[in-house]
Amino acid sequence: MSLTQADGGAGRIDVLRNGMVYDGSAADGAPGDVWIQGGRLLAVLPSGAPPLLPSESAGAADRVIHDCTGMVIAPGFIDVHTHDDAVVLDHPDMLPKLSQGVTTVVTGNCGISLVPIVTDRPAAPLSLLGARQFRFESLRAYRQAIDQSPPGVNVAALIGHTALRMHAMDNLDRPASAAETAAMSRMLDDAMRAGALGMSSGVFYRQAYAADINELSALVKVVAGHGGVYATHVRDELRGIVQAIEEAALTARMAGAPLVLSHHKCAGPENWGRTDETLPLIERLAREQPIAMDVYPYTAGSTVLREDLVDGVIDILITGSEAHPEMIGRYLKDVAALWGITQKQACQRLQPGGACYFQMRQDDVDRVVTHPLSMIGSDGLPHDTHPHPRLWGAFPRVLDQYWRIKGTLPMAQAIHKMTGMSARRFGLGGRGFLKPGYFADVVVLDPDKVRDLATYAEPAQFSQGIEQVWVNGRLAFVGRDKTIAARAGRFVERSNMKVAN
Ligand SMILES: [Zn+2]
Repeated sequence: MSLTQADGGAGRIDVLRNGMVYDGSAADGAPGDVWIQGGRLLAVLPSGAPPLLPSESAGAADRVIHDCTGMVIAPGFIDVHTHDDAVVLDHPDMLPKLSQGVTTVVTGNCGISLVPIVTDRPAAPLSLLGARQFRFESLRAYRQAIDQSPPGVNVAALIGHTALRMHAMDNLDRPASAAETAAMSRMLDDAMRAGALGMSSGVFYRQAYAADINELSALVKVVAGHGGVYATHVRDELRGIVQAIEEAALTARMAGAPLVLSHHKCAGPENWGRTDETLPLIERLAREQPIAMDVYPYTAGSTVLREDLVDGVIDILITGSEAHPEMIGRYLKDVAALWGITQKQACQRLQPGGACYFQMRQDDVDRVVTHPLSMIGSDGLPHDTHPHPRLWGAFPRVLDQYWRIKGTLPMAQAIHKMTGMSARRFGLGGRGFLKPGYFADVVVLDPDKVRDLATYAEPAQFSQGIEQVWVNGRLAFVGRDKTIAARAGRFVERSNMKVAN
């Protein structure tokens, strides 16, 4: 494909010509051209359409043509499940995301957000963000930092319930008092006014486990008052998965907010196959209230090192260890054998750290990825020394595995789960679709080549087939030479579109 990198002025029009255009809506693709001007989409035209635009007569000098013959043109992918709160400031190029075609990340998932914590010693699970410092007591301050040093991708933020708790409570092993709930509500309200998408919770983690449904629904009510969303890493993804989903649904229903179940899974060998039970439950609940879920296309999860997840059955790969960095990239069972101790003891000795847990079965993952209520979210952990490959490969992997190899997701559906559906569910107005007037976040990919190359052994690998990534109308990533061409991301505030379930 040809690529002319002239730096035009405000009048410049970039024309992505003659690609297969998928608009983000799940409608079939059609051959066409996408016109970009001034950061927005000027037009989306069928191939061969007569030049209808007045600007067409403005002269060829203002136009840069990008031949997209044989390529797919789609809205930039939206990674709805990230822990990129700090990395967008610390390593703003955002190469692991841009190189997958991702143009917007949703931060603050699983109850964990930078806002409103101020500390230079973040405790678990906030430490998962890998931030050198927590310095944003308000979303306004975080937003300002993004504006001052724009990252490669757009940033939209959830506020973490655990972070609110850690700010407002001295003892996390009990539900919040009325005064503490009021204090958290004020902080949340302030963040919603500054453009937060909603609140996330991570009641799976000890620091939030004691929160009861009254505490949670009181906070989600604040979010609902602003038209925001409630995303949750549910209390139990193992044996108690059904009750945990029911609790999340009830919380959202009591508060009147749409729900997103984070990284839906049935974890642990005892629960393998139970998506046959959870997905019909989610469908049934979704008939009464807006519910969606996010998912990453891998059978391993990844989080901080947790002894309770060490069952002696599943494989566990060490992704980080402060005490024994030399063991990063090795399997826990091998480390335990080497040290002549049990896996649980080895887990203790490696703390604090992170790991990949091979806790899911392929058929469960497949059912969730292809389910109409799921969106794609990487859940990548950008600060791990040896990260889960989802950080670099989640989006191309969905296209490779489910569109090309298994044929269980049509291209239009796969793209919809990464774009239009995500924008609607999270309230990212003006994004997620290729429509005139929308922000020009666009990915151009080669359907014959698109594929993830990141593996558990070699996680930091570029995907192939992502040819161009445009962010707010600027060419941000060039696949041919794997380079960042611009850091054009912005803070994206909540701006709702209508959600029909
Ligand atoms: Zn989580």
